[in-house]
Amino acid sequence: MSDASAASFDFDLIVIGAGYGGFDAAKHAADHGLRTAIVESRDMGGTCVNRGCVPSKALLAASGRVRELADAEHLRGFGIHAAPVRFERQKIADHANQLVATIRTNLTKTLERAGATILRGKGRLEGPQRVAVREASGIERVYSARDVIIATGSDPFVPPGIETDGRTVFTSDEAISLEWLPRWIAIIGSGYIGLEFADVYTALGCEVTMIEALDRVMPTFDPDIAKIAARKLIDGRDIDARSGVLAKTVTPGSPVRIELVEMASREPVETLEVDAVLVATGRVPVSKYLNLESVGVTTNRGFIPVDEAMRVLVDGNPVPHLWAVGDVTGKMMLAHTAAAQGSVAVDNILGHQRLIDYRSIPAATFTHPEISSVGLSEADAKELAAADGFELGLVRSYFKANSKALAELESDGLMKLLFNRSSGEVLGAHIYGLHAADLIQEIANAVARRQSVRELANEVHTHPTLSEVVEVAYKQAAAALV
Ligand SMILES: Cc1cc2nc3c(=O)[nH]c(=O)nc-3n(C[C@H](O)[C@H](O)[C@H](O)COP(=O)(O)OP(=O)(O)OC[C@H]3O[C@@H](n4cnc5c(N)ncnc54)[C@H](O)[C@@H]3O)c2cc1C
Repeated sequence: MSDASAASFDFDLIVIGAGYGGFDAAKHAADHGLRTAIVESRDMGGTCVNRGCVPSKALLAASGRVRELADAEHLRGFGIHAAPVRFERQKIADHANQLVATIRTNLTKTLERAGATILRGKGRLEGPQRVAVREASGIERVYSARDVIIATGSDPFVPPGIETDGRTVFTSDEAISLEWLPRWIAIIGSGYIGLEFADVYTALGCEVTMIEALDRVMPTFDPDIAKIAARKLIDGRDIDARSGVLAKTVTPGSPVRIELVEMASREPVETLEVDAVLVATGRVPVSKYLNLESVGVTTNRGFIPVDEAMRVLVDGNPVPHLWAVGDVTGKMMLAHTAAAQGSVAVDNILGHQRLIDYRSIPAATFTHPEISSVGLSEADAKELAAADGFELGLVRSYFKANSKALAELESDGLMKLLFNRSSGEVLGAHIYGLHAADLIQEIANAVARRQSVRELANEVHTHPTLSEVVEVAYKQAAAALV
């Protein structure tokens, strides 16, 4: 492995993939004077900007307003009588598309201004410290770099038996363009992507059937939070949710046919005929084309093994000068995780040793109302308490006791706080309720600092704000210390 002087390489750093992870890494590196190149084969900005966070939040913003204006009962509570709501599907789709274009342009300009070289084409490793880039023209060039970061992200996972045509059976990649509004759509999967699209579709008047293979809907969420959230987000809407059933086959067409079988026994349940199907069954890493064999790396179901400094591992040992960040590593597959990993990798390349702290990374689902979490699940916290010999504390704080939530007539919500009853250290939090995605940040910061509820309980919160839901939880927890 060569550690030759920087000048003998074409670049100090080549980043493969310009999603959120690659972008953050390349910008951070260029800002710190590294001669940086970033390779992208599709759209600058990757999944988040083009097919993920950005357009989905634009659709949720617009459809959320439709829901609000159409909720006559809620408005009547304020003494407001609204006229029937009309909306233009195409204009909502345009709003999302324009936002994507703006953010993609800004991101590209930011990289250029920072001095990074953008290489358009498909990148793959050509042995240690070498990257081949195949341009759209078919021309291939090989570049050398002292360090290489892989940030190739993920694609939607489509289970076997499900056939997509992009029009009647599709993934979030196509759903995001909101090309039409099916009268009846089945959403396969009740993770955050399925839930967010269910929020959009039901607000815009579509009937939804939600199909979940595991034995409860929203299986990846805290069970208490899922239970209360499901009352409003699923039961309170035009959604027929089925758990413990598997969509064995899905055949595109008009209608789309879905063969449902019981998950446990694989016995047939029924065949549904719907207008469209959204497949939201998770995501798979993009790592096949990377020629990882040339550096001896073996993936784990396609995910690239990394340590907490973001070094790529072979048999548990770091490969010199090779790093991976973002969804391709399979760790908390979120845009801000990818970005945080990107900065950690570059800091280590710059010689400033830094490790990622997954426990303090929050996650949010942007339904109306939102769901968020940070830190340990209750099950993991129980395990930790048993292993480390401390008593686990758990308190609940309700939105119905919060003045701001009551003023908004949006008092459906719960926060669960997990903490160490001896030291007071905050271990995790799970929230469902108005602006839960914003509220979680305060707890994420406390987790990052490993703070105790003893000191947090004394921090003054603005009245009347939703943040007092967190204050109440901290105060209850401080009172429960042993
Ligand atoms: C519908 C949806 C909604 C989401 N909402 C949120 C949200 O609200 N908040 C949140 O935090 N996360 C959200 N996510 C997740 C988020 O989009 C991803 O976690 C994030 O994009 C991961 O970033 P990344 O840089 O690892 O990969 P990606 O964004 O997938 O980017 C990887 C890039 O690498 C490129 N690439 C791949 N292989 C090569 C190659 N060989 N050569 C050159 N280029 C290559 C790809 O074209 C792509 O542009 C959402 C995802 C979806 C699908």
